[in-house]
Amino acid sequence: MRLFQKHFCAIAISLWAASPGNAQLLVEPTLHIKAEAANGRVALTLDACGGRTDTRILSALVENKIPATIFVTGIWLKHNAAAVEIMRAHPELFELENHGGRHVPAVDTPQKIYGIRSAGSPEAVLAEVESGAAALAVTGEPAPKWFRGATAEYSPSAIAMIRKLGFKIAGFSINGDGGSLLGAKETARRIAAAKDGDVIIAHINQPTHAAGEGVVQGLLALKAKGLTFVRLDDADGIGDEGTTD
Ligand SMILES: [Zn+2]
Repeated sequence: MRLFQKHFCAIAISLWAASPGNAQLLVEPTLHIKAEAANGRVALTLDACGGRTDTRILSALVENKIPATIFVTGIWLKHNAAAVEIMRAHPELFELENHGGRHVPAVDTPQKIYGIRSAGSPEAVLAEVESGAAALAVTGEPAPKWFRGATAEYSPSAIAMIRKLGFKIAGFSINGDGGSLLGAKETARRIAAAKDGDVIIAHINQPTHAAGEGVVQGLLALKAKGLTFVRLDDADGIGDEGTTD
């Protein structure tokens, strides 16, 4: 009981701390794809927030011909030209989509999400989305159709704005690597548990984290079970919170 009280108290404090007068309740939308194939199909989405490239994952995708949708930021694109080259050399595998210019959460009121300061205003959300698309345009990739904000949490008003810009918003149904902070075993277990229609999220920008090894193991397990992988552009993604309709 005491532990419960302590825990409850910590939650109350963190809610209070995260809620200045104008903070909005945030949503973490889900996304599924239409279940179709005989053995089931899933969409693998990998975020490249900043930092480097996990070549364990990139090599495994190429070697095993596993298609993936990569959400890249302007920051990541700037420092990972070699990885971008590999992705562009395999257009049948990789779809690059918009993860924002500077990896700033698409929340239009000032607040912190997982310790990251939100965009904080409608203008800043707009700048984050548009600068992400502009950074992708420079690489020669097709114009992005999907957006996923940093932390994958949004204010409902930001969702409406992003939809108006013409982007669908990519939620997920399986949190594969817990922000790349999970161990290899747990990451592999979560990904291997994906079922027909699931959209998996994990990270491809943390080469030193154990989670990356688990991502590869989980994907190989799914492949061995006969599941197929599709990119978001090749599937009908259905999200909640007004993210795709
Ligand atoms: Zn990210």
